[in-house]
Amino acid sequence: MSMNADFRSDTLTQASPDMRASMASANVGDDVYGEDPSVNELQDRIASLTGKEAALFCASGTQSNLSAVLSHGQRGDEYLIGRNYHILLNEVAGASALGGMTPWPINVDENGGLDPADVVAEIKEPDQHHPITSLLCLENTVNGYVQSVELISDLSQAAHNAGLSVHLDGARLFNAAIDLGVPISDFTTSVDTVSICLSKGLGAPVGSVLAGNKETIDKAFRVRKMLGGGMRQSGHLAAAGLYALDHQVDRLIEDHLRAERIAQGLSNINGLDVKQATNMLWVTPPPEVHSSLSAHLENANIKVIPWSPTMRIVTHLDIDDEAADYLVEVFQDFFSNN
Ligand SMILES: *Cc1c(COP(=O)(O)O)cnc(C)c1O
Repeated sequence: MSMNADFRSDTLTQASPDMRASMASANVGDDVYGEDPSVNELQDRIASLTGKEAALFCASGTQSNLSAVLSHGQRGDEYLIGRNYHILLNEVAGASALGGMTPWPINVDENGGLDPADVVAEIKEPDQHHPITSLLCLENTVNGYVQSVELISDLSQAAHNAGLSVHLDGARLFNAAIDLGVPISDFTTSVDTVSICLSKGLGAPVGSVLAGNKETIDKAFRVRKMLGGGMRQSGHLAAAGLYALDHQVDRLIEDHLRAERIAQGLSNINGLDVKQATNMLWVTPPPEVHSSLSAHLENANIKVIPWSPTMRIVTHLDIDDEAADYLVEVFQDFFSNN
């Protein structure tokens, strides 16, 4: 069977011919001089969608998050963050290595949510022995799980009451918004900065955008430059993001429905534990068949992330119903013969 059956991540999508055409024909200038009209348009669009004064186009989510974190704190400061969040686990400890800031992990519930009381309890008293707690880092979605508008707002309020800033890693914020049927600004009005990935479900080849007030974005602009992120005719890249905002936001619901369809298809397989949220599935087979199941999927040209004990499966722009049904068939085939 020949199809794209790569379920490892929504970062794997390849730009469509129309997206490539809009990249090729983009109006560009030198963005280090602030003169790239396509970059400026993308930044203005994201600022407006998030209800913020300003925005900054970054090379990646890692660069965008790091630019934000370093703009909210100083060397020796501490930031509070969910213990399994991306900035803590998957961004090379950049805030510590390059910015001298220490993370303080907070426990999360089974949906990746933080409890405002836990956050408040971990803010350090002003004391010569303590680091200064200057920032709370949130995430949405967390491994596919949507954090509610109320929770984000309650957490932000608790942090703000104690004088902290709040950064939201919204790599997949559009997935959360589409899932709840709300505009992304519902999640962003209560936070100080938000980072949004264009290269995940939105299907652009590269880029993230950081939004916040002018003062913070001015600081982040300098950090981005320090990180080597001052790009030149980056409007060719921004054009992909603009195309994605115009054409590939509403369709995220299709990814969620397809993930649900897969979850449904796998639900009657005995011994298989399946969890699904937005465009992600977490599948735990009986431990004794984990490696033979992984091999079976690989032989059928299906790629998943075969983490043990729980595999990750992600739907995206390049996964259609046929690929989703094929995945279910290959699972069913394995379990009917084992
Ligand atoms: C992908 C992702 C990022 C950014 O990753 P990059 O690969 O640097 O773009 C940040 N946060 C979360 C939750 C992510 O999933």
